Amino acid sequence: MRIKLDRTLCDGFGLCAKHAPDYFPLDDWGYAVLKGDGNISAADEDAVRRALLDCPVHAIIELKDKRAERDAG
Ligand code: SF4
Repeated sequence: MRIKLDRTLCDGFGLCAKHAPDYFPLDDWGYAVLKGDGNISAADEDAVRRALLDCPVHAIIELKDKRAERDAG
């Protein structure tokens, strides 16, 4: 799973940090920062997906593999 965080959308609710603190540390103002390159290990996918689904402003976006989509037709 690969994600990106759109910090222009983030409103600082901090829910992502609650679910997956290793990936979404909060900055001094309470806004989320994406730690790492956006690649999520399989073991952490559940927590990160929960963060993604709980974000009230949909600032966490899953990046689909374009090639996989094309191959799937
Ligand atoms: S849950 Fe969404 S709005 Fe809240 S801190 Fe995380 S990214 Fe920002």
